[in-house]
Amino acid sequence: MSDFDYDLFTIGAGSGGVRASRMAAQYGARVAVAEEYRPGGTCVIRGCVPKILFAYASHFAEEFEDAANFGWTVGETRFDWKALVANKDSEIDRLSRIYQRNLRNAGAELIDSRAVVRGPHTVYLEAEDREVTAKHILVAVGAWPAFPDNVIGVEHAISSNEIFHLEALPERIVIVGGGYIAVEFAGIMNGLGVETTMLYRGAEPLRGFDLDIRTTLCREMAEKGVRVLTEMDVKSIEKTGDGLLVVARNEAEFETDMVLYATGRHPMTKGLGLETAGVKLDAVGAVIVDEYSRSSCESLYAVGDVTNRMNLTPVAIREGAAIAETLFNDNPTSVDYRDVPTAVFSQPAVGTVGLTEHEARDRHGDAIDIYKAYFRSLKHTITGRQEHMLMKLVVHQKTDKVLGVHLIGPDAPEVIQLAAVAVKMGATKKQFDDTVAVHPSAAEELVTLREKYVPQEMEVSHGAQRAAP
Ligand SMILES: Cc1cc2nc3c(=O)[nH]c(=O)nc-3n(C[C@H](O)[C@H](O)[C@H](O)COP(=O)(O)OP(=O)(O)OC[C@H]3O[C@@H](n4cnc5c(N)ncnc54)[C@H](O)[C@@H]3O)c2cc1C
Repeated sequence: MSDFDYDLFTIGAGSGGVRASRMAAQYGARVAVAEEYRPGGTCVIRGCVPKILFAYASHFAEEFEDAANFGWTVGETRFDWKALVANKDSEIDRLSRIYQRNLRNAGAELIDSRAVVRGPHTVYLEAEDREVTAKHILVAVGAWPAFPDNVIGVEHAISSNEIFHLEALPERIVIVGGGYIAVEFAGIMNGLGVETTMLYRGAEPLRGFDLDIRTTLCREMAEKGVRVLTEMDVKSIEKTGDGLLVVARNEAEFETDMVLYATGRHPMTKGLGLETAGVKLDAVGAVIVDEYSRSSCESLYAVGDVTNRMNLTPVAIREGAAIAETLFNDNPTSVDYRDVPTAVFSQPAVGTVGLTEHEARDRHGDAIDIYKAYFRSLKHTITGRQEHMLMKLVVHQKTDKVLGVHLIGPDAPEVIQLAAVAVKMGATKKQFDDTVAVHPSAAEELVTLREKYVPQEMEVSHGAQRAAP
């Protein structure tokens, strides 16, 4: 028995902290977890889960409209924001309780308190005004929305935290940002009938994604009614008689009722006492860790968004699991960050895995083949919507390996999960081609892309889901 109160003390019961703690307890470690708000963390309380529920809600308006072309008569429809928020809240309550139960069932102690570090093995619990000691401390405190400090009146804006609890929907919203949270909320708000303007500083939203995805998403969002304005840097937000006025540095002005800032998130390390353990942070305050998530302090580890490596729930979970393996199962484990699939629940949605065309060309020069299809799905030949899907494969000429898959379309997040298995296994383009298509589906286009793409204006084909010849 060690001299410490615990073998592992985890700060933060979010995705990464809970996974590490549960597994460590199951391996027999004495584990405690401090949570200052609600178990579940960002993903459950104010991230992935509430966001996807809102996204589901926002699709119905289009579905009601489209139903008519399939012969349905839909009566008068009405949207009740409060009902959506209440139902979302009860689902979050349920999930948060499951997180608590899972921790306790695994044998970990859950402490309702903010915790701060007081040394390499010491944690102070604010709510209980006491110190505890642990052989290992795991910092899994996540990140928090950040606002720029050079925008006058930015205090009038809200972040993604507040949007989940609005009393009422605004009539107009300006969303500032071009990352996945910005484009997702642009789709949600637009779908719920809010006049939506998205202002982004760069040339296309979704920096880091394949350029075809970025340009296509921009166009498709505009087609759906979102006013997407790029190269628009916000200078100030002023309160007016009945709303807000957003002024850009090029003097463009936008009247609105609400401004949502989604320009980034910062690790929650401020005031956490990490300096007392000699933990090194980077310029944005992220804990610097090695491949085993160990910080510059030997006994202190960090996982998830607080390390700002790849800020996704499944990655935080993997990092947490790796900690438990490394520390309590005699199995040093690091996370493989290659070919991590990711989805953006924009409208239309995005799914992506592997290298973008740009990254592939940087790595392999011209020895890259591109295959792509840009098409209207069969459904929209009937609805009349000008909505298009994009499917793109990035292939290494020498090995024939599929290095990247990039999709835009309603089911892109579902499709990309399985495409990611193939990419992770090192599948070749020939193996994609050898796979028989599922017809009539949109995803069949992924295995029927025969012609290499020759750079030119993207052509609209009839694409997948056409009637069998
Ligand atoms: C709007 C939004 C949508 C998102 N959508 C997706 C998505 O679709 N897919 C995806 O993969 N990822 C998504 N993410 C990202 C995902 O939520 C995060 O990557 C993930 O939650 C990170 O997990 P974590 O364990 O690092 O931290 P978190 O889940 O944030 O958990 C940290 C926990 O620590 C607690 N805490 C902080 N400081 C202290 C302290 N001092 N003492 C005690 N407790 C403390 C916090 O209250 C919190 O519960 C989204 C994020 C946002 C904001």
